[in-house]
Amino acid sequence: MKATVDFVRERFDYFNRLCFEGKLEPVPLRVSNARTYLGVCRYRKRRRLLGGYEMYGFSICISARFDLPEAEIEDTVIHEMIHYYIWRNGIKDTSAHGKVFRSMMDEINRTHGRHITVSHRSSPQLREQAVDTRRKPHVIALITFTDGRTGIKVLPCIRKSVKMYRNGVMASGRVSRISFYETDEPWFNRFPCSSALNVIYRDTQDVFPYLEGATPLTSL
Ligand SMILES: [Zn+2]
Repeated sequence: MKATVDFVRERFDYFNRLCFEGKLEPVPLRVSNARTYLGVCRYRKRRRLLGGYEMYGFSICISARFDLPEAEIEDTVIHEMIHYYIWRNGIKDTSAHGKVFRSMMDEINRTHGRHITVSHRSSPQLREQAVDTRRKPHVIALITFTDGRTGIKVLPCIRKSVKMYRNGVMASGRVSRISFYETDEPWFNRFPCSSALNVIYRDTQDVFPYLEGATPLTSL
């Protein structure tokens, strides 16, 4: 089957009662046509007055692109619900799929006979060939052009380079929005990292799942 909003909504309510004691607050649920993930829990991050960040503006999005067994879509929904539970409640974890995530996942798998994994792309169709998995810090720029296209650029973690890139790109007059994130997610290793004034056109929907846990750079 392919995911539908109605299915996701119904399953969210069901698993909320079954696995989360009904504690999850309602959250916008969507489906997308994404190719590179099965599900994602989105949020925004803002600085707190007393230091640190808080997450807000949550939504869960499930890809409807693939014809998958119902159980696999359900496992994806629960995976995103675990993220939502942890982030919504401000629970500290060691990483996006850290100790807390894994212990909740293991508990649900054990108690309810699920097969949830820490991957957002568990389907064979989505498995990509082995890539560089080293954790190296990068600055990721997400760019929206005035014609509606979007793109990504991987920059070295050097403030001056990031600033120069931003100024150069904005000066082109073709860019309506640019935002920066710092992350060591290995998925970004596949892109060339440089300060050159270029961009890789890519749907930002495909990129968001890999910015989980990234730090937005609000001031440069
Ligand atoms: Zn995840």
